[in-house]
Amino acid sequence: MITNFHLALKSHDHSRCIDAALEQANHICKLKKLQFTPTRKLVLKLIWQSHRPLGAYQILDMLADLNKKKSIAPPTVYRAINFLLLHGLIHRIPSLNAFIGCPFPNSSHSNVFMICENCSNAAEISDKGLNKVLRSACERAQFQLNMQNIELFGTCATCTENKTLSSS
Ligand SMILES: [Zn+2]
Ligand SMILES: [Zn+2]
Ligand SMILES: [Zn+2]
Repeated sequence: MITNFHLALKSHDHSRCIDAALEQANHICKLKKLQFTPTRKLVLKLIWQSHRPLGAYQILDMLADLNKKKSIAPPTVYRAINFLLLHGLIHRIPSLNAFIGCPFPNSSHSNVFMICENCSNAAEISDKGLNKVLRSACERAQFQLNMQNIELFGTCATCTENKTLSSS
């Protein structure tokens, strides 16, 4: 049983997350012979600027701020988002209608997201054991699974720590 766990909810050197994400995206695009265009790269980088899921409008706003002179048309941005989704480089969190970068686009997925209600950071976990349990539950119910997306809401370790510090 391999659990892929992304420690996004604890303080860490985030520049390493961004570098790793871009490197993995580059690698996957090369492998699948896909075009990692400057717009796709830019949108992925923006989504990765933090671990807070971003809505499409936020992404458009940020791009408009970045490229005051040469703006990117919204349909181009939406196409870039769809490309990143299609190839598993980002995920959509339905309840937030927002996008988050995938820290392990090359491995098996559970699509389980821990979302902090306080700081809005989200972390993804992938757990083969969990997938097995869910798959067998579906089998028993003769339920044909099309899409799996599990959203866990709570308080992250950093926020819990800050709360304890401020109350003591
Ligand atoms: Zn990070
Ligand atoms: Zn993922
Ligand atoms: Zn938090």
